Amino acid sequence: MYRKIYNLIKKYNTIVIVRHIGPDPDALGAQLGFREIIRYNFPEKNVYAIGAPAAKFKYLGNLDKNIEYVEKDTLLIVVDTPDKKRIDVPKLEGFGKIIKIDHHPLMDDYADLAWIDDTATSVCQMIIELCAKTKLAITNEGAQRLFVGLMADTNRFLFIRDIKVLIKNLDLVKYLLSNTNIDVTPLYESLYMRNINELKLQGFISQNMEITRNGVGYINITDDKLKEYDVDAASAGNMVNSFNYIEGILVWLTISEDVKNKNIRVNIRSRGPVINKVAEEYNGGGHKMASGARLSNYDQVYELIDKLDNACQEYKSNMKGSAMGEDK
Ligand code: AMP
Repeated sequence: MYRKIYNLIKKYNTIVIVRHIGPDPDALGAQLGFREIIRYNFPEKNVYAIGAPAAKFKYLGNLDKNIEYVEKDTLLIVVDTPDKKRIDVPKLEGFGKIIKIDHHPLMDDYADLAWIDDTATSVCQMIIELCAKTKLAITNEGAQRLFVGLMADTNRFLFIRDIKVLIKNLDLVKYLLSNTNIDVTPLYESLYMRNINELKLQGFISQNMEITRNGVGYINITDDKLKEYDVDAASAGNMVNSFNYIEGILVWLTISEDVKNKNIRVNIRSRGPVINKVAEEYNGGGHKMASGARLSNYDQVYELIDKLDNACQEYKSNMKGSAMGEDK
């Protein structure tokens, strides 16, 4: 697979790299980091990263604007996007070839060559791995972006549950740092810096989180609340990552009203029950333990919470069953 991807990159003179709408640091880090690395290794090629920018992650670098390319002579690389409808590209048809590099479970089969590894913590992990295996040289700028993406998706390795995956990520980060010369302190600062309004909204969430019978923690953040704290729906949703490890809560979600997009943004996390199958029923998806969805009304939101509560109940009874099995 590494070789096949490398050969396609070698073959095309124009390469466009894209990712999902509403990008996060992993998607942007992989997209912009990979662009720098390909440009450095193949200076004669035209390599672009396109899509709607995200002001919050501007520190990861600039996207290319107003570029022109002829689809049939262009290689399209789609990172971090399992579903066709969320690819941030003006038109998906007509490309010479499409490569998909993704760490989500398979949803849509849209690529000529798909490298899917749903055990990978991040697409940034996969790009580092690809560089290590093909000997694509990693530049400092590329390394900074890949580092941020990997750290963001794993929350500095905290979210990695499988020891083999942890070892692999530590090895790859060691490779990245040993082969470049980057300073990680400012990168952590960019990634974790918040303004005081966000901290205050986090206080509101802590004070007002509701908990269901079986351990779903949820908070409704209406547009009025977002205005009161002067925080946008995306930043509010991102706060879901601050509520790990609360006794009695197995699944937790932020529910943010997104007036601009006329829907309700839901960000869900889990410490055990599988949540992506439930998210998929509500115009969403994601990983087993980290998912999101876009809902059209609050009836759907409460239905979703009920289903997550059932998932918690089932998970707890399975855990009890397996503990009893062990006793025997
Ligand atoms: P987030 O809560 O936005 O960090 O997203 C967690 C995971 O769920 C990521 O892998 C996202 O790509 C995925 N995800 C979030 N929202 C959606 C959506 N509306 N549809 C499909 N996947 C989503």
